[in-house]
Amino acid sequence: MIVMKFGGTSVEDATAIARATDIVCSRLAQDPVVVVSAMAKVTDQLAAMARAAGSGDRESALQLSRAVRERHYNAASELLGSAVFGQLHGELEADFDLLDELLRGIAAVGELTARTTDNVLSYGERLSSKLVTEAFRSHGLKAVLVDARECIVTDANHGKAIPQMDDTNDNVRARLRPLAQKKCVAVMGGFIGATREGTTTTIGRGGSDFSAAIVGAALGAERIEIWTDVDGMKTTDPNLCPDALRIKSIGFEEAAELAYFGAKVLHPSTLLPAIQKNIAVHVLNSRNPKNEGTRITARAPHCRNAFKAIAAKKRITIVDIVATRMLGAHGFMKSIFEVFDRHRCAVDVVSTSEVSVSLTVDSNEAIPAIAADLEKLADVQYRGRNAIVCMVGDDIRETPGVAAKVFTALGDINVRMISQGASEINITFVINEDDVPEAVRRLHTMFFADPDPEVFARD
Ligand code: ASP
Ligand code: MG
Repeated sequence: MIVMKFGGTSVEDATAIARATDIVCSRLAQDPVVVVSAMAKVTDQLAAMARAAGSGDRESALQLSRAVRERHYNAASELLGSAVFGQLHGELEADFDLLDELLRGIAAVGELTARTTDNVLSYGERLSSKLVTEAFRSHGLKAVLVDARECIVTDANHGKAIPQMDDTNDNVRARLRPLAQKKCVAVMGGFIGATREGTTTTIGRGGSDFSAAIVGAALGAERIEIWTDVDGMKTTDPNLCPDALRIKSIGFEEAAELAYFGAKVLHPSTLLPAIQKNIAVHVLNSRNPKNEGTRITARAPHCRNAFKAIAAKKRITIVDIVATRMLGAHGFMKSIFEVFDRHRCAVDVVSTSEVSVSLTVDSNEAIPAIAADLEKLADVQYRGRNAIVCMVGDDIRETPGVAAKVFTALGDINVRMISQGASEINITFVINEDDVPEAVRRLHTMFFADPDPEVFARD
């Protein structure tokens, strides 16, 4: 059994859904279970409708809803024969009428709760999964629609509800296994679930990957395929460096580190249920299904090159805190970090000396307020327009002299802070934002001139 998850761009219109159908047909022998996102941008549009209604602007909310309704009708009419379209049109119409009723209700009370927001957002996946199921059927597949709310049991923490694994695993197995045994393709919307009492919830934006990982782990799937619109993960941003290579295979921790520092393909923490069960996750391109994409595995593959990838995160501010009082004193760090904590501001890189602390933050909004608080403790300066460059590779543990090579490659580029994580799988430093393209090119040339063919590909 395998799980195939199609993201928003892979089901964005009739053409995309037809492509997804062909991809699923090519995998029938492996008993696929399909998890789909809402059509691209629909979740954002539903959120906008809910907000408009919440602020009492009923007309804007309903207008936005009409546009989304049209898009689903259009895709359905292009994909389906007229008899099936007629029937599905009726079903979609009933759903959209309910959505509009909900929006009118929100506008009437002029108040939007987290619980109601989840109800509105859930329409994206509920509708896309219906549409995709019908498209599969009209292509001759034995597809069965499964309501995620009958499988994924969560707590009531609306907007980021936490799946309750025991109940969820039982439901997923009871509902999906018999379908696979009958050679039916189950189609389920990602991102949504329900509490034990049956209230609709969502599990966090981008949550369809998480749904796919949960289903894959519960079923002990052979693998999970995440279908998106790029050829997997790259050694660096191809816009910065045209020589960027495709990473054929990467460890889970390496991928997680990269996601944190800017790689946008997916957030691997959502894959944890699958990784813990040693199920490989493949990131694939639905517009280019022949490409092998990137395989994410529990253990990092061994690699001749020290690094797997270079990520850069811009719009970073360095905060320098200098206090001679700090000499020999304890409790100083605590009081500094308490300030950041109070402002709910995450700190990325930290380096300290006897009388100073430098750290980086990525939310510039809070900086003036934070600096005002810190000034009660020490001298504070902050400098914007910096970037964190993070080089990730499990093999740096075994490669002596890597840091020296990194700084040789950087040459005359000014490095403002350096940190090597305790995990020993990354080297991270901070430079001026304007130096990023040049730094990334120099580093890429130094470390990827002779790529290990087992781990990297040039396509
Ligand atoms: N549709 C949801 C979102 O846009 C979930 C997902 O696509 O993964 O956040
Ligand atoms: Mg996504």
